[in-house]
Amino acid sequence: MQWKTYPQAPTLIILVLCWISWFLSSKGNEYFCEVEEDFILDRFNLTGLNNEVANYSQALDLITDNLDDDIQDELRGSLDVQARLLYGLIHARWIVTARGLQKMLEKYKRAEFGRCPRVLCHQQPLLPVGLTDIPYEKSVKLYCGRCEDLYSPKSSRHGSIDGAYFGTTFPHLLFLVYPTLIPPKSGPSDTGSSNREAASGDSRSRRRRDEAEIAEGGGEDINTATVALKAERYRPKIYGFQLHETAKLQRWQEAVRDRQIARLEALEEATRT
Ligand SMILES: [Zn+2]
Repeated sequence: MQWKTYPQAPTLIILVLCWISWFLSSKGNEYFCEVEEDFILDRFNLTGLNNEVANYSQALDLITDNLDDDIQDELRGSLDVQARLLYGLIHARWIVTARGLQKMLEKYKRAEFGRCPRVLCHQQPLLPVGLTDIPYEKSVKLYCGRCEDLYSPKSSRHGSIDGAYFGTTFPHLLFLVYPTLIPPKSGPSDTGSSNREAASGDSRSRRRRDEAEIAEGGGEDINTATVALKAERYRPKIYGFQLHETAKLQRWQEAVRDRQIARLEALEEATRT
């Protein structure tokens, strides 16, 4: 492995770093884990990426620290963008391998992707997920295994990361491979006062949120039934396929929801006449 300095590194601590270490230590890249060099050097793992990345072979050389030093500065700048894209796309493939899952698991256990903001999730650590596997479409979201909902990262640095660098499969595959890590759906068994407080806090914040949503509607004649119909749900997928048990549960939940909406519509119809 060759060692180099990178001009983007702060001048005071110009250290010899390989590109991947430099990338991982840059601010805002905390969600990424290290892709092992032998995975990158196995061309089979990179199949098709040459069509996604401009200056593919030079970008690959940059990532693996094999780029010639006499490369022009203007090309180096654009190469850096391509190298980041390439690393991100390789990363999405790496984290669904056994070793990649292991590395992301360590980060998950340290809650490096943040924790669920929902009170009843009891600080459940989150996992990064993409809404699409195509780059430049959607930014990364954070999946909570407890409430099965998605959240946007708190920091704008993380909020602008491309979701395709994590892919749509990763968190669900992690729970499939490590089923003991699937968090319980209900809170801790101790029903102390803190739990009750948390519960009341949650209903309060939910009420506030509902009120805010109604206010956003501008006070027009908006009925509860139509608001309920609009709610979009996140569907966990592995390689594009819905998870069997989750799909079954979601169909049941949606049937219950639709019945409730029908009741609401009937009720609102009755109050109007
Ligand atoms: Zn949650």
